[in-house]
Amino acid sequence: MRIFDPHIHMSSRTTDDYEAMYAAGVRALVEPAFWLGQPRTSVDSFVDYFDSLVGWERFRASQFGIAHHCTIALNPKEANDPRCTPVLDLLPRYLAKDGVVAVGEVGFDSMTENEEKAFSRQLELAREFALPAMVHTPHRDKLAGTRRTLDLVEAAGMEPGMVVVDHLNEVTVDVVDEAGAWMGFSIYPDTKMDPDRMVAILQRRGLDRVLVNSAADWGKSDPLRTRATGEAMLAAGFTEDDVDRVLWRNPVEFFGQSGRLLLDVPAADQGATFAGNSLLRGERG
Ligand SMILES: [Zn+2]
Repeated sequence: MRIFDPHIHMSSRTTDDYEAMYAAGVRALVEPAFWLGQPRTSVDSFVDYFDSLVGWERFRASQFGIAHHCTIALNPKEANDPRCTPVLDLLPRYLAKDGVVAVGEVGFDSMTENEEKAFSRQLELAREFALPAMVHTPHRDKLAGTRRTLDLVEAAGMEPGMVVVDHLNEVTVDVVDEAGAWMGFSIYPDTKMDPDRMVAILQRRGLDRVLVNSAADWGKSDPLRTRATGEAMLAAGFTEDDVDRVLWRNPVEFFGQSGRLLLDVPAADQGATFAGNSLLRGERG
């Protein structure tokens, strides 16, 4: 089973996770820019974070045989913080870089006016850079947030096929489907979607425009939920080709629209360095 996890925050994961992901079949991923779990206090904090997404983290993934891409944005939560919003002026510098395959995560957290402003401006940037957009949907009042999201996408003149609306569930999937946008599903251990609920949605509406991710981050989450979903699909009678479509070809098709997928990872080179630093610790015998 080859797996492309289209939404996972590897900066907060361990080398054990990388090894387990590779063993499970993960060969490519997209790491969206997000918040830290605590507020950033200045724009400089984004600069180091974005640099690590396009640099160190990609190097780290490559050492485990996994192709790493990222998306860059001011996330919805921090769009409410005046210490953070000036980062919007820095985004173009990063959106031009290799391996940056979308603008994201953008969208709504608490549905404030500031969030809407930042969201619209970043949709404009996506159009300007001819990049897809990855849109986060709020955990509360999800359906209203999803509807408002689709309105803003339309108002921005963004082609729906260039947008993935993420963290969907049974309640929000149909409005996104009708709008013609891509549908992202985050499979968590306890909350949101689980593999069986995901399979039921695939049985009901088919496999096109669906992305399945683990959305693993610094919270309670599991980078192998993508694999668990592939197995649940097989157990429910889907074919290996169906699984390959959902877990590999769909994300390749969606993010391929950026023209920047880098799916070939050179063989891992023990002791390789990035800016002088390697993943190895201690003396090698
Ligand atoms: Zn995320």
